[in-house]
Amino acid sequence: MQTQLADFIRDTPEGREAEGIVRKCVHCGFCTATCPSYQVLGDDLDSPRGRIYLMKRALEGAPVTEKTRLHLDRCLTCRACETTCPSGVRYGRLVDIGRALVEARTTRTPVDRIFRGALAFALPRPRLFRFLVGLGRLARPLLPAALKAKLPQAKPPAGEWPAPRHARKMLALAGCVQQSLAPSINAAAARVLDRFGVSLVEVPGAACCGALRFHLNYQQQGREDMRSLIDAWWPRVERGEVEAIVMTASGCGVTVKDYGHLLGEDPAYREKAARIGALTKDLCEVLPLEALPQGVASGRVAFHSPCTLQHGQPLGGAVEARLARAGFELTTVRDAHLCCGSSGTYSLLHPAIAQELRSRKLAALNEGGPDSIATANIGCLNHLQAASPVPVRHWIELLDQALQRKMPA
Ligand code: SF4
Ligand code: SF4
Repeated sequence: MQTQLADFIRDTPEGREAEGIVRKCVHCGFCTATCPSYQVLGDDLDSPRGRIYLMKRALEGAPVTEKTRLHLDRCLTCRACETTCPSGVRYGRLVDIGRALVEARTTRTPVDRIFRGALAFALPRPRLFRFLVGLGRLARPLLPAALKAKLPQAKPPAGEWPAPRHARKMLALAGCVQQSLAPSINAAAARVLDRFGVSLVEVPGAACCGALRFHLNYQQQGREDMRSLIDAWWPRVERGEVEAIVMTASGCGVTVKDYGHLLGEDPAYREKAARIGALTKDLCEVLPLEALPQGVASGRVAFHSPCTLQHGQPLGGAVEARLARAGFELTTVRDAHLCCGSSGTYSLLHPAIAQELRSRKLAALNEGGPDSIATANIGCLNHLQAASPVPVRHWIELLDQALQRKMPA
């Protein structure tokens, strides 16, 4: 698409990047077939093609309205469109730029501002979030149904975390929400990696990766979270103590891997961010397939591959291969490329669309009659679990359980 950028953005790094991306789009519309918001809403302006057009107009200086912002807000940032696009349009990068531009030129209602502000304040603060979750559990009978469904009944016990005993060490991110809702995930990862000669270590003070606030369009605050996390990890990275930084939540992984780009304009952090990004691996990447024992597990499992794993990183098929090798019977999942509707805070901000996508996803996941559903991201796990007829677990917890049963340490 030909683009004539307006003066205010033409000679900026964002302007140059956005122009390069928009020019690649040939408006073919192939991406609409895999766009979840278009599938639910049926409006071309809620498809990647429509949103690219809206962002192009905004970049050219056309007036932007609340309606423009709504169409961008309703994007799940799932990046299924990137996987589908034959022209290599990097939609995810473009929508970050477009959202910042449109946010700065429109005014949200006071209720919208307060709700988004409260989420941006509370979610990245683990202590506050843990306190609110505890409070929510006590007041469960009084909560509205939507919020009640989001609150897990009880925190699962984490189990033992093996003492660091191996020369090979990797860092794990406790994360902001995950450490309150499911500390069992990182503990299971630590136990499994310990069997394969790797000690997993969490660094105190390493909390939110920045994705939550960044995607709520508090981009500067999101970058502050990224810098804080880099500061917490940097001494160990600089001393060369860690082989990798392991992500058990693919939503965090896709962001931390991109730190080099996200902080690329910050001279104080640019190099550190690129180093941290290069060290970052999803959990499935540090667990070599051929090292896994075969046939130690049993049971039918439907795997929900989070968008941040299959489109964002992209590591589609990697977890499935590990579960199958361990002996789980993986059921076929229709439309496995489609988002479940969780997407960070999306399910709280756009509950009707999120719940429709979840209903469709759970119907597809349950078609094969699984005993359980496995996934790789706390957001998807929590969102699906709230309405699932079968248990939803992180895949490493299933693997850990199977190994403990068949191969006690
Ligand atoms: S598939 Fe790619 S080139 Fe075609 S409309 Fe979508 S983003 Fe543009
Ligand atoms: S990121 Fe997902 S929801 Fe957003 S336009 Fe692309 S396919 Fe649609």
